[in-house]
Amino acid sequence: MTRWKPTTLTGWGRNRITRTAAARPERPRELDAAVADTRDVTVLARGAGRAYGDAALNDGARVVLTERLDRILSFDAASGVAVCEPGVTFADLLETFLPRGFMPPASPGTAFATVGGAVAADVHGKNHDRHGSFGDHVEWFDLLLADGSTRRITPESDAELFAATIGGMGLTGIVRAVAFRLLPRATPWVTVREKRIADLDGYLESFAQVRDSVTFSVGWIDALARGSSLGQGILETAEFHEDRAMPAPPRPRRVPVDLPSFALNRLSVRAFNELYRRRVPTAGRERQRSFSKLLYPLDALHDWNRIYGRRGFYQFQCVLPDRTARAGLRSLLETIAGTGNPSFLAVLKTLGRTGRGHLSFPMRGHTLALDFPCGGGADELLHRLEAITLEYGGRIYLAKDSLLSRAGFRAMYPELPRFEAVLQRVDPGARFMSDLARRLGLKGAA
Ligand SMILES: Cc1cc2nc3c(=O)[nH]c(=O)nc-3n(C[C@H](O)[C@H](O)[C@H](O)COP(=O)(O)OP(=O)(O)OC[C@H]3O[C@@H](n4cnc5c(N)ncnc54)[C@H](O)[C@@H]3O)c2cc1C
Repeated sequence: MTRWKPTTLTGWGRNRITRTAAARPERPRELDAAVADTRDVTVLARGAGRAYGDAALNDGARVVLTERLDRILSFDAASGVAVCEPGVTFADLLETFLPRGFMPPASPGTAFATVGGAVAADVHGKNHDRHGSFGDHVEWFDLLLADGSTRRITPESDAELFAATIGGMGLTGIVRAVAFRLLPRATPWVTVREKRIADLDGYLESFAQVRDSVTFSVGWIDALARGSSLGQGILETAEFHEDRAMPAPPRPRRVPVDLPSFALNRLSVRAFNELYRRRVPTAGRERQRSFSKLLYPLDALHDWNRIYGRRGFYQFQCVLPDRTARAGLRSLLETIAGTGNPSFLAVLKTLGRTGRGHLSFPMRGHTLALDFPCGGGADELLHRLEAITLEYGGRIYLAKDSLLSRAGFRAMYPELPRFEAVLQRVDPGARFMSDLARRLGLKGAA
């Protein structure tokens, strides 16, 4: 008998509190039993809860936590293919495979995320131009379906269900195991080059120069800068360094309490952004860093989401196609800088190609991500950013989103009808459900 425990859950942005009954299976057969036990109520898989908005929430219903389904089942060094349970985290992958010279093919900006969450969001990292997103490297997965059966899905066995599950935000079923290809020739250290960028045009030129030649790249933008400084920031590029010695494990700090909302204001954020930019000398610099610090700078501060206080925050992330990126990013940054909403550094990256999933976020273009504390007009601001994203032919990332409208969603994701056709086939009774799906009107949600 499955033990369902009343549980309060939020997304990483903590902008919405939900109450659910949660089960924490230790073995795949307990996962099967938990789903079988939810005949009259909807259910959703949840990994590490690092989705910012409501993708991993199912208010008033059931949630299955996959964190204890965390075994690495096999690894073939010749092909690089690993088979993992869904609760294996990126930290687990790095710890196990980096000493053997392999890395996850695409990694989000936090090592706490799980491979189940990586499949469901088709996550991308700082190497998308070179290596694509996580789903590009998936060979097969075992999917627990609404009728209680588990099927091994490959692109050949069921192309549509495969494409609906990669980036499908947990709505086709629960990934019980996944086989994916790790990339060879990774080392625990990278050489990082940092240079100051004066404005948005400088960013676009620099990215155009490096995106096809470097392995990792990411830009940090001061989202408060305006006028001729609009888009100023720092561009980081990185390559593996031959040093194979494992670095000492990081010693993360913790944010112990929710900060009061007045602590975050334009002045304090402006000062932080300026300090961050000036850290890099005008001539730029080059240094060795551990690979994990390059991938996961925010993980150094546990519970950093408490900085935004009790009301929580929104993350906005969109991608704009290359052809509209210059005008579109300018419009987004001008809108953001023109409001009173204090936003820390924005992240700008390039994405290389469209993903394999019907709802995969990536397309060839530029992606901008930034956080806004809730309140103070943040909702209106995000609605304006949605309209600009649409105007420039872009899309908003569901794993980060809290506010996207149904009409905006339908316009941004052209493969949605195919996704909905698969849902109708594999889950006609809408047993797998999330707050995100309800908000976006998926699965017949009114
Ligand atoms: C600091 C930070 C940095 C980030 N950086 C990036 C980034 O650079 N690139 C990027 O792409 N994303 C990024 N993200 C977003 C994050 O990678 C995704 O939200 C990812 O899905 C989180 O994985 P999780 O295990 O926490 O999943 P959860 O947040 O628990 O769930 C996310 C979705 O996955 C589904 N899911 C989880 N497990 C399963 C399963 N076993 N079967 C089916 N569905 C499942 C859930 O139902 C939900 O819809 C970042 C998040 C944070 C907090």
